Amino acid sequence: KALERLQKILAQAGIASRRKCEEMILAGAVEVNGEKVTTLGVKADPTTDEIKVNGKSIRSEKKIYLMLNKPKGVITSAKDPQGRKVVADFLPGIRERVYPVGRLDYDTEGLLLLTNDGEFANLLTHPSHHVPKMYFATVKGTPHGSLLEKLKSGIMLEDGMTAPADVEYQDVDEENKTSTIRITIYEGRNRQVRRMFDAINHPVVRLRRVKFGDIGLQNLARGQFRHLTPVEVKELR
Ligand code: URA
Repeated sequence: KALERLQKILAQAGIASRRKCEEMILAGAVEVNGEKVTTLGVKADPTTDEIKVNGKSIRSEKKIYLMLNKPKGVITSAKDPQGRKVVADFLPGIRERVYPVGRLDYDTEGLLLLTNDGEFANLLTHPSHHVPKMYFATVKGTPHGSLLEKLKSGIMLEDGMTAPADVEYQDVDEENKTSTIRITIYEGRNRQVRRMFDAINHPVVRLRRVKFGDIGLQNLARGQFRHLTPVEVKELR
């Protein structure tokens, strides 16, 4: 948790000078998560705490759209009660409270979009909006072509048949007895890709998302993020 003194947060948000912000705190104009703060020295987390001055949130209204190359071993949520790494840890300098557009499992790597534009996020994750999501799945063994055909046409999972998917061999690793398969799905159920490969008895050992809609991860390094370009945001809508 990145705690900073309240007056510093306020000053950095452009409210007023640090000195002036101290006066505002003492005057009772500032609240954190619904509680009025009237003493100096109180700390807060500018990314997760809701800070208001005279009843108005200091968070900028500006909409931001980010792409993160999520490493594995990171939780797609703002906070983890168990203290594991969360995606916010990889967004230094981002003060807006951003939400992931869909989720990646703890052990899944790759392209994750984040935004503070709730409407945009809902649009892209709504089941009726079939955004293609492309993954490289490294699986145990070498699934027979007929099994991949099943994944392509639709396979029964506990929550019903999957929609048709694009599935193609990428690589076979003889030494590690694994294969890498490129799979594009047009829905986004919980742990869907892993469950699809479980269903053909070739469990996933590594899963990496490389594309969301037309937007590719390209050469963004693991653990790094960048802002989407206005053109990319427009293309996703
Ligand atoms: N499918 C999965 O199984 N896991 C993910 O994180 C994304 C898609």
